[in-house]
Amino acid sequence: RSAQLLARQEQRESNARVYPRHFPFAIAEASGSHIRDLDGNVFIDFLSGAGVLSLGHNHPEVVAAATEQMGILTHGLDMPTPAKDAFTDAQLSMLPAGMRDRMKIQFCGPTGANAVEAALKLCKTATGRSDVVSFQGGFHGSSHAAMALTGNVSQKRAITGGVPGVHFFPFSSCSRCPLALDPETCQTNCVSFLERALRDPNGGLTLPAAVIMEMVQGEGGVIPARKEFVQRVRALTRELGIPLIVDEVQTGCGRTGSWFAFEQYDIEPDVIIASKALSGMGLPVAIVLYDEKLDVWKPGAHTGTFRGNQLAFAAGAKAVEIVRRDDVLGNVRARGEQIGARLAGLATHPGVLEVRGKGLMWGIELTAPGDGRTVTELAEDVQARALRSGLIVELGGRDDCVVRMLPPLNVTAEVVDIALSILLHAIEGAYV
Ligand code: PMP
Repeated sequence: RSAQLLARQEQRESNARVYPRHFPFAIAEASGSHIRDLDGNVFIDFLSGAGVLSLGHNHPEVVAAATEQMGILTHGLDMPTPAKDAFTDAQLSMLPAGMRDRMKIQFCGPTGANAVEAALKLCKTATGRSDVVSFQGGFHGSSHAAMALTGNVSQKRAITGGVPGVHFFPFSSCSRCPLALDPETCQTNCVSFLERALRDPNGGLTLPAAVIMEMVQGEGGVIPARKEFVQRVRALTRELGIPLIVDEVQTGCGRTGSWFAFEQYDIEPDVIIASKALSGMGLPVAIVLYDEKLDVWKPGAHTGTFRGNQLAFAAGAKAVEIVRRDDVLGNVRARGEQIGARLAGLATHPGVLEVRGKGLMWGIELTAPGDGRTVTELAEDVQARALRSGLIVELGGRDDCVVRMLPPLNVTAEVVDIALSILLHAIEGAYV
């Protein structure tokens, strides 16, 4: 039945483009960490709708909250409503105590990219400046400016030249150090490119309106920034009065073991972008949290029809309640350690360059097997083998050479164990 539906899709592909060419099945239904296809095959879902299903598919309490809201009010533009109020309180309550009082919240159009655009506009308005600094390997969305901030050139070929004033600097990506330095002794030299460019009158940069970064590059291949790198970027931007935007679209809402990943870097950004997992069940919603000192927007300066999704608000407030009550962040850390321990042996595997992860965001970077196959072919083979054995994982990073895992944050130890057995078996099978 999956094949029939795929064939139908195929025949009218010019009308309905299908994204998941690596997942040749049609979804019938899902629950928790599992998806069932139309033929009754069950898969462990370690992609979680690209990180949005933080509490798994159809969490009964989150579904109940959204269902109840459905009978009350579904869309409320940007007007105050009880659902929006509860959602706002829930989001602000998850900020570190020292930031809560001075952060404001802006509701944006429904996707992460919309929030990226809003954050840029806010910083440009507040500073009166126009350039933006982004990092190599980063990903910020598929709208025009968000795409221009993205490090992967192949993804933005069509818009190159469209957004002036974006400058890229090296990220602390140690396994591919741009200076080929030893990460143990290098003292995070990569950040000195940015420091020099901003401080040196011959550095070529005028003061930018913002620096935008991910704490863990997700689409870029699950690359956690080094702490010292992030702290130096924060110190530099603070000294020069440049707003620091942290894009927590993928890392936020508990994914890395703290509500926001920046908390683990002991920094306080000026602007935080969140979206994906905010509703806990995949309903579209996006916000920008920003320091009140940037609050120069006149009323009506940033509009958008879909800023008032009451179902997402009701679900999101409930999701925060569950995350607290069930110590979901504790589970993220424990399951993250479980994954790290189980994958430790891969460090010496000839087909594996590096295993990286934080909380429940993991990536295994593969290397070309040396038998004529490219690293992309090897990674696709690993993904296909895992799928045939019932595990959904995604690829990302340079040449799609990183096998990525984003399980639900409430995944059980048992499911993690089964999933990793499948994955390790898939890597062995593909490498031989
Ligand atoms: N920023 C980051 C870090 C992301 O990972 C993504 C989506 N993968 C986006 C922004 C864009 O979000 P959306 O697809 O909802 O526009």
